[in-house]
Amino acid sequence: TKKRIYELAKELKITSKELMELMEEMGINVNSHMATIENEEAETIKELISGEIKDKGKKEKQSTNGTHKKKEEEKVIEVEDTIVVKDLADKIGITPAELITKLINLGIMANQNQSIDFDTASIIGEELGFKIIRSKSLEIKDEFNLDYEDDPEDLKPRPPVVTVMGHVDHGKTSLLDAIRETNVTEQEAGGITQHIGASVVNIKGKKIVFLDTPGHEAFTSMRARGAQVTDIAVLVVAADDGVMPQTVEAINHAKAANVPIIVAINKIDKPDASIDRIRQELVEYGLVPEEWGGDTVNVPVSALKKEGIDDLLEMILLVAEMQELKANPNRKAMGTVIEAQLDKGKGPVATVLVQKGTLKVGDVVVCGSTSGRIRAMFDDKGKNIKKAGPSIPVMILGLSEVPLSGDILYAVEDEKTARIYAERKKELEREEQLKITQKVSLDDLFEKIQSGEIKELNIIIKTDARGTIDAIKQSLEKLENEEVKINIIHGGVGGITESDVMLAAASNAIIIGFNVRPTQNALDIAKEENVDVRTYRVIYEAIEDIEAAIKGMLEPKY
Ligand code: GDP
Repeated sequence: TKKRIYELAKELKITSKELMELMEEMGINVNSHMATIENEEAETIKELISGEIKDKGKKEKQSTNGTHKKKEEEKVIEVEDTIVVKDLADKIGITPAELITKLINLGIMANQNQSIDFDTASIIGEELGFKIIRSKSLEIKDEFNLDYEDDPEDLKPRPPVVTVMGHVDHGKTSLLDAIRETNVTEQEAGGITQHIGASVVNIKGKKIVFLDTPGHEAFTSMRARGAQVTDIAVLVVAADDGVMPQTVEAINHAKAANVPIIVAINKIDKPDASIDRIRQELVEYGLVPEEWGGDTVNVPVSALKKEGIDDLLEMILLVAEMQELKANPNRKAMGTVIEAQLDKGKGPVATVLVQKGTLKVGDVVVCGSTSGRIRAMFDDKGKNIKKAGPSIPVMILGLSEVPLSGDILYAVEDEKTARIYAERKKELEREEQLKITQKVSLDDLFEKIQSGEIKELNIIIKTDARGTIDAIKQSLEKLENEEVKINIIHGGVGGITESDVMLAAASNAIIIGFNVRPTQNALDIAKEENVDVRTYRVIYEAIEDIEAAIKGMLEPKY
């Protein structure tokens, strides 16, 4: 029998790239992590290499020991909208009398049981060398203790959840179809697969879950609602077309969410397909293929001819294994709504991706601002099931209203808890509607930097010409100082679109356009999501504005 390079690398607990380098030093050349070697040869290599790795490990340990420095402890105090004088004194570590004296110096008369506001607390705190930050009010899931951390010992491996992204017509839908078709077992083949918004694929006795709606738009709109369900992004790039604008968007959306990318180089059956050219183009966007010494896994496939599909699935499993995805199946369930609608016969139906615990028929659940008792559950094959564990998508019946996609579902103790939760949630939503959610904007940037609320300024740049992106990027990054880091999370050519605004909303970013305008749709969503969109005709005006905002000297615009 034979072994693949990546399998051997995994056994040795190193990357395929490292293994290939070590093998090269031994005079054995392989050109891909998918290459195979004889088992016997693998054993010999293993012996030789494990010795080397140990030596190297020792050396590295020695060198890090010396340079290890202890980070200076930051003195931060969290304060809500107001704080009682006595409590603040306690936190600072002075007596209430001392604090009252300080307050008098500021012209504020207060006794120790009275409250002072956040701004006053910040002034006093800063004087005494503390950083005062506004504490977030308790979230409802914490009030009900629904989303507690699990004991690491209770965590069990769970299947990866994958979203397919890429430029239009590069083959996202075809790839998803090919994956589903090559993995139907015989008894399933006769039945009708039900569209529930996600599908489970079995390979080598393991499961992979694919979200059925491809594209980074769907991915980021979930994220903007606070839900992150994707573990791995599969980026489809057509080998006859190359990296296109939406490919770049997809890359940046996945990066902003910190989700690893596996590239599927599709349409390799086409006569003008060039795998190497695609790899070269990917390097420009920081996705250096493993074969060339980077860490981006890429797999040539043909969705049309169903070639390379198993390789792709194997690589997904491998990347997932390195992520060590785990969840506790033995607790009350938590999950995210992927899609939901009103069915004429069945009432509200929702597909939920279970993320923690096990969801069971009969469970009382809360979901967004609705609730109910689970009457029935169906899997992606349309089969009636009684329970579903972590990473498994299920269609549920029994909610009293249709939830929104991105809503979080929790199984709760009993109907009374569900009722109180739903009431509280509705109340919170009303409050939310009254106060516009706080997002970053140039107008109050300085304030937020000063209060410690913002340490990074995320920016999206849209221009009319490719060449200007880098120029702007460089000038903006120069504005970075000790208090605020500047990240250009996406740069692209063309008008400001809905997808840009969703990315900004999900990543708390501002959008800057040069000689480009937002579409009406983008403007509407920006208003709704409270995203700061600014357009300029000349670069230096934008640089000046941002510099002024960072320094607290921006003149307000009305
Ligand atoms: P999407 O917009 O990314 O979802 O792309 P589709 O899956 O709709 O595919 C766009 C077009 O490319 C369709 O006409 C497909 O038949 C074709 N296509 C997809 N995959 C392949 C492939 O591997 N080889 C070839 N030759 N054509 C493909």
